[in-house]
Amino acid sequence: MIDSSYQALGPDADRTNDARIARVELDVPLQGPFDYRLPDGMMPALGARVVVPWGRTRRVGLVAGLALESDLPPERLRDVEALLDQESLLSGHWWTLVRFAAAYYHRPVGEIALPALPKPLRAVPARRARGSALDRWRERWDKMPEAPAQSVPSASSTGPVPLLAQQAAIDALCATRGFATVLLHGVTGSGKTEVYLRWFEHLLRTPTAQVLLLVPEIALTPQFVRLVQQRFPSERVAVLHSGLADAERATHWLAAAEGRARLVVGTRLSVLAPLPALAGVVVDEEHDPSYKQHEGAQYSARDLSIVLARQRDVPVVLGSATPSLETWHAAMRGRYRMLSLPDRTSGAAPPRVRLIALPRQGAPGPASARMQHGLMPPVVQAIGECVARGEQALVFLNRRGYAPVLSCGNCGWVSGCDNCSAFRVLHRGSAGEAAARYRLVCHHCGADGPVPRNCPTCGNVDLSALGRGTQRIEEGLAALFPQARIARIDRDAARRRGATQAMLDDAHAGRTDILVGTQMLAKGHDFARLTRVVVVDADSGLFSADFRAPERMFATLTQVAGRAGRAGLDSEVLVQTRYPDHPLFDALAAHDFARFADLQLDERRDAHLPPFVHQALLRADAKQVDEALVFLSQARLAAAELEAALPEDGARVTLYDPVPMPMVRVAGRERAQLLLESASRKRLHRLLDAWLDRLREQRTSVRWSLEVDPVEI
Ligand code: ADP
Ligand code: ZN
Ligand code: ZN
Repeated sequence: MIDSSYQALGPDADRTNDARIARVELDVPLQGPFDYRLPDGMMPALGARVVVPWGRTRRVGLVAGLALESDLPPERLRDVEALLDQESLLSGHWWTLVRFAAAYYHRPVGEIALPALPKPLRAVPARRARGSALDRWRERWDKMPEAPAQSVPSASSTGPVPLLAQQAAIDALCATRGFATVLLHGVTGSGKTEVYLRWFEHLLRTPTAQVLLLVPEIALTPQFVRLVQQRFPSERVAVLHSGLADAERATHWLAAAEGRARLVVGTRLSVLAPLPALAGVVVDEEHDPSYKQHEGAQYSARDLSIVLARQRDVPVVLGSATPSLETWHAAMRGRYRMLSLPDRTSGAAPPRVRLIALPRQGAPGPASARMQHGLMPPVVQAIGECVARGEQALVFLNRRGYAPVLSCGNCGWVSGCDNCSAFRVLHRGSAGEAAARYRLVCHHCGADGPVPRNCPTCGNVDLSALGRGTQRIEEGLAALFPQARIARIDRDAARRRGATQAMLDDAHAGRTDILVGTQMLAKGHDFARLTRVVVVDADSGLFSADFRAPERMFATLTQVAGRAGRAGLDSEVLVQTRYPDHPLFDALAAHDFARFADLQLDERRDAHLPPFVHQALLRADAKQVDEALVFLSQARLAAAELEAALPEDGARVTLYDPVPMPMVRVAGRERAQLLLESASRKRLHRLLDAWLDRLREQRTSVRWSLEVDPVEI
């Protein structure tokens, strides 16, 4: 069956019966679609998957159009080898979103479309098994626990009674018809999730409706899925993230694509799932950097979810305690609607914030001598008292490993990485790996080796670990509080399968006294007895070259502080910093996001930074940074020429000088970047279109890529 909306796809698409040519999108770095001859009797639906030859390989592609003739000479036309789908799962709506993303991020359509499919659907099937594997997934989904026949959404029968502010937000959402972007700004613990669930309940009363809940991290999906499943026992929930086994993800993807799963919970990639009956979208923790895709087309799932909602004419809710400044600005200007949840559901006051001044570098010895294992005396005391009361403390440090660098006090040698302009981090192996107890690991290229017995430069045997990571803090806490049950949760601990979940279960059940961890602990968790939060080092974001660093730090500190006192117990956050007078901390202590955001937006306006301008970043890497810089300088000249040729419209695109990236070497390649900026998004994109065509024509050994709306500069 061919969806009528496909007619927009190709000039000849309506004459499908006579079509001899399939226009196929492929995941290759060239602008498609590519023409292939249809063998006699093969008449694919638009959006169906086909197998085609590509060079000496065979690939799965998507039929994006049909035509009577090709511009290619007949001898260069090759045949479609096989048709994999009798009908397409990809609606015209889906293509519209994919095409938008391709145009906006300046990527070939196929590079967005194909990676959006689960792996088994884009793998070339063995010649004999064609088709049958799919069917097996369908059976598997059908074998999953069957929901009661009469599907009645029932979030309200088991959930708490909404508080006044929640009810107001729920009512406002339920009354929203058609496209709208709504910012749900609620402090941590204000019950945003309940608002989402009640709105979903309302939407799912329409028998075929689907809803999409985007969450920032794979680690958070199980708890959301559990909650959603518990609150909607008659619904089957599709889960989409890259941590699923291929077949499982395909099963869930198909259930979503065929409308058999009405609730879809997933990470950023789920924004590109085909959802035929989408009625509403929620992006939880919308400010989270993990909504940005880091490889290939570097799309923002948050931004695409707004495009998706607009195309499907449904509301999208962006939830956060610390919205991105882009979102906040749009809400302030009335472009987005704002709904607020100003109080915690527990009625508890937000935690007090106490700033603990760290001795500044170069300050006389005694002050730092008072530190114990990287913790100041009031912090050690607060943790001790907290544990003695039978409550929990969380010690937050966004740096994994034992120590960020190993050094020789004799000659000044440091544990630099051979491939990167970064230090190799000292890691301690887990118990039992006695021989390889300590290792030096590069967090950028993964280089991993034993610790030298003595200094590679001068032979000194007395090497010292400088600074602290989570492992060392954990060790220090064990020395300070030998009776306490301590658990460390970070990416290293998570390597062992199931380990994180077991530790989190212990923490939730109150079997842990002190939690040590990175970002992974800051998000989403609700530990009832957690009353003290310690931020070991809050300074990294204060004076960074990246203008978004303070925004990220405020969000992280708010998140981590929000773990304290959620059940209403008296709670406190202790922040160790060398700069206790920094204005950022005033706003943090006052729990005043608006004040922080307004200050930041004033600075951004003065400095002509986003959201007041739009940016794109051309990155280049080569063996030597000079090669990358030469490439970028030539690219800049080309851009200047093209910009001058654009029609006069009152706006300009500013081209900055190419510069080496702050961390110039990674994995043996040296990197540089060129920033483009304009107050006019339209002009910027017009320039990018023309410019990229030129750049693609160039033969160069330099690798380059363009990022639109870069988040890290
Ligand atoms: P947020 O996402 O805004 O940080 P959550 O949605 O995690 O907050 O909610 C915080 C806690 O409040 C959760 O334990 C939740 O079950 C509880 N909660 C939500 N709504 C209510 C309510 N109306 N009455 C009582 N508790 C509630
Ligand atoms: Zn030395
Ligand atoms: Zn490295």
